[in-house]
Amino acid sequence: MSTLDKNLSRLGHHLERFAETGIQNLIGGKDEAGSKTFETRSPVDESLIAHVARADSSDIDRAAKAAKAAFPEWAAMPGKERKALLHKIADAIEARAEEIALCECWDTGQALRFMSKAALRGAANFRFYADLAPSAQDGKSLPSPDHLNITGRKPIGPVGVITPWNTPFMLSTWKIAPALAAGCTVVHKPAEFSPLTARLLSEICRDAGLPDGVLNLVNGMGEDAGKALTEHPDIKAIAFVGESRTGSMIMKQGADTLKRVHFELGGKNPVIVFDDADLDRALDAAVFMIYSLNGERCTSSSRLLIQESVREEFEAKLVKRVGNIRVGHPLDPTTEVGPLIHKVHYDKVVSYFDFAREDGATIAAGGTTPESDGHYVAPTLFTNATPQMRIAQEEIFGPVLTSIPFKDEAEALHIANDVAYGLAGYLWTNDLTRALRFSDAMEAGMIWVNSENVRHLPAPFGGTKASGIGRDGGDWSFEFYMEQKNIAIATGLHRIPQLGA
Ligand code: NAD
Repeated sequence: MSTLDKNLSRLGHHLERFAETGIQNLIGGKDEAGSKTFETRSPVDESLIAHVARADSSDIDRAAKAAKAAFPEWAAMPGKERKALLHKIADAIEARAEEIALCECWDTGQALRFMSKAALRGAANFRFYADLAPSAQDGKSLPSPDHLNITGRKPIGPVGVITPWNTPFMLSTWKIAPALAAGCTVVHKPAEFSPLTARLLSEICRDAGLPDGVLNLVNGMGEDAGKALTEHPDIKAIAFVGESRTGSMIMKQGADTLKRVHFELGGKNPVIVFDDADLDRALDAAVFMIYSLNGERCTSSSRLLIQESVREEFEAKLVKRVGNIRVGHPLDPTTEVGPLIHKVHYDKVVSYFDFAREDGATIAAGGTTPESDGHYVAPTLFTNATPQMRIAQEEIFGPVLTSIPFKDEAEALHIANDVAYGLAGYLWTNDLTRALRFSDAMEAGMIWVNSENVRHLPAPFGGTKASGIGRDGGDWSFEFYMEQKNIAIATGLHRIPQLGA
């Protein structure tokens, strides 16, 4: 039996129960099949995975009320106890790592070579925030001549977490773990294209002993379930990961109830390669950051800015590497690129092959769609692009790289910054002064120099411009999920103004 067949057989075993129960919501600790459902299908072959509960505004209302009811006790639980419980959840995630990985691949089309670590990354997110839970409420002592000011933080209340379909398990834990550690209760609305592992996460949390109502799962569409969540008066804040234009809609929807929002949105991130760089390492990193995870990653390096003096040599090597990338079944351990999430998204990505031609760029590699029932596209490289072309400005969100030449540092900086987005940037140069000067002037929330996206959980994660509002990571997450409070105590008999005396 091949490894692929073994993985398929294990997956079949994990999916059996969903054929019977469907993917249910979890509200106030209870499973709910929902009065209406929608189908989730695998991007590998369009086969039905399960029927999914489709929440409407009354389901959202019950979930928000369950989160509200559970909030006082959860917020009052000592940080040490929350820490122990969150570590228990991390243990349970690790124990079900294989199931999570196989389900994630089948539901999203992501290759197992990357998703096999999804559960471990998710568990690491829980452990990191578990350890910070006991100190989350800590504050400062700020004495003035006549007052002692004491600050402290309180969890903001029940929050809504709305997540996208790319690496959904990891991203859900990235938002939910700090919210729980802070003492918030959560209503989670996962993406309709990838509901499977959000269900596993909510079950894992319940089975590990998370009290009823602390984490509620509601599946459904953005325009009804998502919208109702952002408008609900009991939900105090919305942590959202997804497209920039959805972020803008959520801001409008949340305006009447004055929602606090945290947005992790789209990107069109440059990887800038100067001729003095270690070109072999730059090539490895540039290829990895756009063709891993099917290119469906917010921090992908989707624009290559290559210095004219090394362009020919670099692009020739790139074409070879792109042509060698193994496209295949996501559960085959040798696969590097799997099918795209959904037909709708596949059509969007493929439409850029025509835009590239129409605008005068060259399709130097790929630009084709392998014959298959699934949503496969060949890893693609556009060359001879200019900075204002659609392929150089818009987020394509697939295994598609646009190469743009530049002459000098000033031109590179101008091209790098001349887009609506500002999430991440990757800079390759061995000139230290230039690295410092350039990264200081680059408009992006996160910049890696001579590196790919290597995450450090205490560091801030997030974007500028159309790429987001707010930061996750370290203590930054708590700034979002908690309210600051200042208590000023008079330390003597300071003068109080006497009106009408
Ligand atoms: P999307 O915006 O279409 O959907 C994201 C979520 O929002 C889904 O759960 C959806 O149902 C919900 N939604 C849609 N309309 C809504 C509405 N009116 N009100 C409330 N909720 C609504 O995004 P997607 O296509 O699922 O994900 C891909 C996008 O996510 C890309 O743009 C990518 O760059 C971005 N992303 C950003 C980061 C980051 O950290 N910056 C990380 C991952 C993904």
